[in-house]
Amino acid sequence: MLRRHAIASLLAAGAWGKGIERFFEGAHGAGVLVDRKTRRLIAAHAPELAGGSAAPPGSTLKPLVLNALLERGRLRAGETFPCPHDLRVGGRSFDCSHPPLGAPLTVRTAIAYSCNCFVAHYASRFHAGELGSEMERWGLVSRTNWFGEREATGRVWNAPVELQSLGEDGVLVTPASLAMAYCRLLSRAAPAILAGMADAVEFGTAQRARVTGLTVAGKTGSVRTPAGVYLAWFAGFTEAAVVSVMLQAKSGGGDAAPIAGRILEAQWKGQL
Ligand SMILES: [Zn+2]
Repeated sequence: MLRRHAIASLLAAGAWGKGIERFFEGAHGAGVLVDRKTRRLIAAHAPELAGGSAAPPGSTLKPLVLNALLERGRLRAGETFPCPHDLRVGGRSFDCSHPPLGAPLTVRTAIAYSCNCFVAHYASRFHAGELGSEMERWGLVSRTNWFGEREATGRVWNAPVELQSLGEDGVLVTPASLAMAYCRLLSRAAPAILAGMADAVEFGTAQRARVTGLTVAGKTGSVRTPAGVYLAWFAGFTEAAVVSVMLQAKSGGGDAAPIAGRILEAQWKGQL
């Protein structure tokens, strides 16, 4: 691990961005690539955003939420739920964007198709404050120390649990803290969670993260901040690396997933 003063000089020189900035092609956003086993930073694009900008994570939170419900015994991996498609919380619409699936959803398919109704339904089984403390446990409000003393942290506060579980309210994360949370998730994720993220890339919402010959898994997020800014997210992984990408754009699947896929491909091919 580099010492802090070394990181500061690298940041000043913009050296972190050299490896992966080309994949952003001028898009406004940030990205972090991490070694999955050592949890060391491999590369970052726009470190001032990656470690300094906290934003609502949208549906990238779903695997963490569902894994916490499984761990607490509030949800079984085989439990099924027929998606009603329409979801209103606090006067706002969070209707599912997936097509009719013809079968009730499980944890695995809910992640693959990013089912809002499924996640909000089961998140109501958390007791008051539990989801907030889970998110703190994942490290979403902690510094990763990849960006030295200038790094910001995420934030968690009380909000309706349905909105919190969808990453819409009550939680802000940095791209760095989301990547660290995924590192932690991977060390203990239930098989259904891992399978759901693999399916998301194989045939679900994250297909544009696919890389020929490489197994990529992950989760998209698309969210509008209270200030009206659209953010596109993807957090995912291969056997060797974890990546998170946040962009000012509308679609996690359409905008963030392809960039993340190319970053993971470059790492796999030893081009970083
Ligand atoms: Zn749904």
